[in-house]
Amino acid sequence: WSSDTIAVVTGANRGIGFEIAHQLASHGMTVILTSRDNAVGEEAAKVLREGGLNVRFHQLDIVDPSSIKLCTEWLQQNYGGIDILVNNAGVNYNCGLDNCLKFAEHVIGTNYFGTKNVIQAMIPLMRASALGARIVNVSSRLGRLNGRRNRIGDLTLRHQLEDVDSLSEELIDKTMTTFLEQVKDGSWTSSKWPQTYTDYSMSKLAVNAYTRLMAKMLSNLPDGHKIYINCYCPGWVKTAMTGWAGHTSPEEGADTGVWLALLPDKLVTGNFFAERRQINF
Ligand code: NDP
Repeated sequence: WSSDTIAVVTGANRGIGFEIAHQLASHGMTVILTSRDNAVGEEAAKVLREGGLNVRFHQLDIVDPSSIKLCTEWLQQNYGGIDILVNNAGVNYNCGLDNCLKFAEHVIGTNYFGTKNVIQAMIPLMRASALGARIVNVSSRLGRLNGRRNRIGDLTLRHQLEDVDSLSEELIDKTMTTFLEQVKDGSWTSSKWPQTYTDYSMSKLAVNAYTRLMAKMLSNLPDGHKIYINCYCPGWVKTAMTGWAGHTSPEEGADTGVWLALLPDKLVTGNFFAERRQINF
């Protein structure tokens, strides 16, 4: 990798995203560290630059279409495109077993719809290369389709989401909007939707489904223009999101994401990983 390789990381001012930016830059590439807040983003990029790394900051709020537009235009003008996109930005109100769904719209709006909008805006920027461009989505095991307690009750819907042939953007969006409507009108029940971390689990389920869908849609790109897209669970990581509870450090949480971004195997796409191993959706 050289400084000509351009990697963009969302939500990289702290936590796992900061570590992903750090580790990617340590491989010699140019990292565009993005953050919704200018001051903390500039500061985070400065810390990495002071460590001798090639890191620049640009503002990016993934729920703000004008921010996405400005960032993509800046990337195009300054670099002519990008090679790696890591969608790390996310929120979780950590309501655990309580099913407090008052933040559901914000959680799904950020983790799924925001991430999807960034992917759609950045795909046209992804540059042709022999190795293929890479998209890595930071997801969670909580979004697994067949988690023991944490799953959608409707078996038909689960099968539709599981089968890549019946998967569509409309189906994923509709699943999210139906869930949010039921949260709003009070008809939501834990037999229909994941029982724990409900809104967060739904948002990551959507990220996973969208990863598989995009991998299928991008699979027709000609050789030399390939884009590989995968998602991964970083584990239970000690960051602000978990109140610094967890089993692993942000450095370890970043590892599989960086590994996927740099993977030499061109054929890996549309899969879900944890600890550098493929796991079931
Ligand atoms: P942090 O809360 O430390 O970091 C989250 C980052 O996302 C922050 O930089 C935050 O910015 C940013 N962010 C939130 N909303 C937006 C937005 N609208 N636009 C741009 N950036 C935004 O959490 P983690 O580092 O733990 O989380 C990183 C990713 O890892 C998330 O996607 C999370 O869901 C996932 N994950 C984390 C796990 C864990 O155990 N920690 C487990 C499984 C998955 P700001 O500082 O401005 O709030």
